[in-house]
Amino acid sequence: MILPRGFPGVAFGEASDGDARHDLDVRERISTDLGISTEWALIDQVHGCRVVRADVPGHLGEADGIVTARRGLPLAVATADCVPIVLVGTRTVAVVHAGWRGVAGGVATSARRAIAELGDTVQAAVIGPHIGPCCYEVGSEVLEAVEGFEARTTEEKVSVDLGAAIRSQLAGVETLQIPGCTAHDEEFNSYRRTRTPRRQVTVAWIP
Ligand SMILES: [Zn+2]
Repeated sequence: MILPRGFPGVAFGEASDGDARHDLDVRERISTDLGISTEWALIDQVHGCRVVRADVPGHLGEADGIVTARRGLPLAVATADCVPIVLVGTRTVAVVHAGWRGVAGGVATSARRAIAELGDTVQAAVIGPHIGPCCYEVGSEVLEAVEGFEARTTEEKVSVDLGAAIRSQLAGVETLQIPGCTAHDEEFNSYRRTRTPRRQVTVAWIP
């Protein structure tokens, strides 16, 4: 797991950590390593902008973000090229899964609003490993949806920079972006590189 310095309740998975969505042994091992409960709050990700509140662990249905004010309750999203984001409040935390549709729809903004609805303010954010503009060749649909963040791949194809788009949406929030591109860094699962069904998990909790 990648444990960003200064964020005691944030962990980004790598391929070698295993896929904790369905494998309870993996979930238990990760939980033990992180010193957290094995009972996580999870969602069925659908590339939308809904953010659900978790008060207890378990599956919370279709959504692309989870927010909680409950200390010690682990929240998880799973990605393999999409962007995992953690928003840290003073007494709340949220996790977000954002592909290009979520970026276009403003799922990070939805999570920020969800924290505000709990009476809190986002203090900082961490953007986890995802497909970089170096590898994220896109067509016109994605380019138009993520307007303003056009980039070029290493092969000079048209791409978009999802991380930059999210940083823009989180303007005013101190945001750390973990380096790395899931598509060309082989320590990560990448749907684009291998069509894998496996995902790395991002886990966040209030320490
Ligand atoms: Zn890349």
